[in-house]
Amino acid sequence: MDTDRRTVLGAGAALAVAAATGARGAQPVARAAPRNYRRIATEEAWAIPEQREAIAAIARSTWNNLDVRNLRGGSSGAAGGPMGATLSALGRRMLDVDGERLELMDRDGVAMHLLSLTSPGVQLFAAATAVSMAKLANDRMAEVIARHPTRYGGLASFAPQDPAAAVKEMERAVRELKLNGFIVNSHTNNEYLDQEKYWPILEAAEALDSALYIHPRSPADTMAAPFSDYNMHAAIWGFQAETGTHAMRIILSGVLDRFPRLKIVLGHMGESIPYNLWRADHWYHYRRGIQQSSLQPSDVFKRNFLITTSGVEDTRVLDYCLKWLGPDRIMWAIDYPYEESAPATRFMNEAPIPDADKEKIFHLNAERLFRLPAA
Ligand code: MN
Repeated sequence: MDTDRRTVLGAGAALAVAAATGARGAQPVARAAPRNYRRIATEEAWAIPEQREAIAAIARSTWNNLDVRNLRGGSSGAAGGPMGATLSALGRRMLDVDGERLELMDRDGVAMHLLSLTSPGVQLFAAATAVSMAKLANDRMAEVIARHPTRYGGLASFAPQDPAAAVKEMERAVRELKLNGFIVNSHTNNEYLDQEKYWPILEAAEALDSALYIHPRSPADTMAAPFSDYNMHAAIWGFQAETGTHAMRIILSGVLDRFPRLKIVLGHMGESIPYNLWRADHWYHYRRGIQQSSLQPSDVFKRNFLITTSGVEDTRVLDYCLKWLGPDRIMWAIDYPYEESAPATRFMNEAPIPDADKEKIFHLNAERLFRLPAA
């Protein structure tokens, strides 16, 4: 399983070139195999059976918030969602780390998946359950990485429901389990990380020099109504509305004046934030007297945030994000198994950007930020 795929691909590419040039002495064909990049996918979901069971129990309850509806399988609440009553193909792929996932990685030349417990992680659970589930998931993640040290890294879960316990688990996850950063699935009980009770979490991530990935979940109850129709609560619109709102709260609150070295990662090409930065700066200056942050939004974004390409295979958006952030703050991701590996890989293979930028986006930035092996 841990065959060095790059060696295999490299040999294949060399043979293809030899075949193309050998027979008639022609120039190498333009349709050569994709260049042999090292590829690290940075927002890759997995689940453990205990999380699945606990979520399935919630899905059987009368609780009907947008996340629960999503987990049941869409806004209709039908079965077949990733954590629905029956184990769907998606659910099976989520639990797998030793079989098909590695085969697909080999097929597409993906060196590593940076795993994270699938959304909403532990954030639907009561505090005590969330604390113990995060510990269990982190222990399992460390076991998976130990089994496949060249193929997986992982973002640690924690339970924001209990900030003090979260900090303890964050410290354990980095210092003892050597996990590679943290994941949080946007709001927790309709609250956001800019609130003072959550500052110890931000402080711990900064002190541990470990990035905090803010991953989507459905919009909070406090803004749920307009998202309740047309499946709008999910990836088609609601995820970026929820997660972008969370990020803007952190930016505008000024809390990052306290934690200037904290690194926050947003998926999905920045959850729409880059598109709105000019206007945010414009109104920040008009309303300077009432703004909390010492820096304009784009300066906070460029200092503290990185983004990934998860689930957005649009070269126009990539080009736009490169103009705002440059090649050092963008990382590649698939969003497996919600998205398919092959098209996400092809998108970045073929992106019309300089090779040096592609190397950064495919692996160099992730290796540096998440302390992942460089080869
Ligand atoms: Mn995702």
